[in-house]
Amino acid sequence: MTQTLTSPKVKVDRKWQQFIGGKFEDGGSERELFNPATGKVLCKVQEGTKASAEKAIIAARKAFDQGPWPKMSAFERSQFLFKIADAIDAHQDELAELETLNGGKPLRESKYDMADAANCFRYYAGLITKPSGQAIDVPAPSVTTVVREPIGVCGQIIPWNYPLLMAAWKLAPALAAGNTCVLKPSEYTPLTAIRLAEILKELELPEGVVNVVLGAGPAVGAPIAESNLVDKIAFTGSVKTGKAIAQMALGNLKKVTLELGGKSPMVVFSDFDIDTAVDYALFAIYCNAGQVCSAGSRMVVEENIYDKFIAKMIERSKKIVVGPGFDQETEMGPLVSEAQKKRVLEYIEIGKKEGAKLEVGGDVPQGAKYENGYYINPTIFSNVKPDMRIVQEEIFGPVVVIQKFRTEEEAIALANGTNFGLAGAVFSNDLTRAHRVVRAIKSGITWVNGYHSTYNECPWGGYKQSGWGRELGTFGLEGYTEVKQININLDPQPVSWFA
Ligand code: ADP
Repeated sequence: MTQTLTSPKVKVDRKWQQFIGGKFEDGGSERELFNPATGKVLCKVQEGTKASAEKAIIAARKAFDQGPWPKMSAFERSQFLFKIADAIDAHQDELAELETLNGGKPLRESKYDMADAANCFRYYAGLITKPSGQAIDVPAPSVTTVVREPIGVCGQIIPWNYPLLMAAWKLAPALAAGNTCVLKPSEYTPLTAIRLAEILKELELPEGVVNVVLGAGPAVGAPIAESNLVDKIAFTGSVKTGKAIAQMALGNLKKVTLELGGKSPMVVFSDFDIDTAVDYALFAIYCNAGQVCSAGSRMVVEENIYDKFIAKMIERSKKIVVGPGFDQETEMGPLVSEAQKKRVLEYIEIGKKEGAKLEVGGDVPQGAKYENGYYINPTIFSNVKPDMRIVQEEIFGPVVVIQKFRTEEEAIALANGTNFGLAGAVFSNDLTRAHRVVRAIKSGITWVNGYHSTYNECPWGGYKQSGWGRELGTFGLEGYTEVKQININLDPQPVSWFA
């Protein structure tokens, strides 16, 4: 038998520190990180406190108020962002290995994410040098221009499912616009963000422009969200934390963008090729073991193909190779943490208790290679009711529910029947109908006859409780700028308003 399990070359047994004001420093305590594939300790990371967050905020404040970064021309900043993109590419193998060791995802997915992260910097490097303002034809002798300016210090709190990519989505537009940043990665997956900080230092990014603080949300995230010295907070994570962050941001009315996940529907009409639809369904839910905010976690399937669709989903789900991210045969890796595995297994129990039918999975794979890792088999529930918790709540694991519809109206009602509105898809060969349905779905990211394709050029974010604002594309850049009108009077005369 050929050996398909490869060993990572990257060294993790080293010091992992916070990056504040251009320097790496300890934070006062250490956290053990675990390898999700084995459950074994991977390495230790320095973690900070409220004081570290405050120090980083002051460093970012100084870099914004007195430093060169916001004053640079867009062209100069653009050149810097291109260098960051090239450096990420140059370190792709190492970063991908770190991502897989730390987060568990298959190496091929990590490599893809690293390339995507580099391209996000490249996209904003290009965009920032393109025309952005307006000239407005106001009555003479005034002329008016509208310009975009950086907001200031941006706090950026990110989750564990796409560690470096989420850092790129936050940092690239913020830096392009001339802001300075305090980034807080998830306490579970900080390694690639720390490595990125080291790369930024090597590239001689002016000190304080990017700071990385490490620790749990309440300890170092909350002080960033609360600080009056922070002008904007951008958050990706759970609805519960997002709402808390919005409350914390009220003190100084800092600008807020929130990306809070979903329970996204994939509507399948019977005129579409069923095997292709099932193939997309697997991709929609099991990619990254379902730990994707836009995962297609609800299949909404037309009645006349419902049973056949389920049978095919079961057959294909059983064949998915679950295993360690460094095994070349692996198609789906472990979940990120013991806590997440427990949470997903709890949801599976909830589904059973609610009376849904467990069609396949719902358990952990058995065998030596799975011992102590955070694995869960691909899981399907049918016979669900719209008000069940497994239909309404984001599980963030390889668990899909399959709902049945009779009419187009019913499909739309089911698709829109949660508090979320992040993503959604429609599969039909009747493009008129597909377009009608996709327009009726209350979600920010939609696909017709496809799923998961994501572009740095296109806005990312949700309706309803999936969040506030949009990332990526021109919309993402706008989210990191203030808008200013400048009125110039070319012929100043006394206004004589008062005698
Ligand atoms: P998840 O349950 O998917 O981990 P969270 O919303 O808890 O999602 O976490 C996303 C990010 O928010 C992480 O970086 C986490 O440390 C941070 N976070 C969690 N709680 C808080 C909080 N009270 N204040 C600020 N940040 C927080």
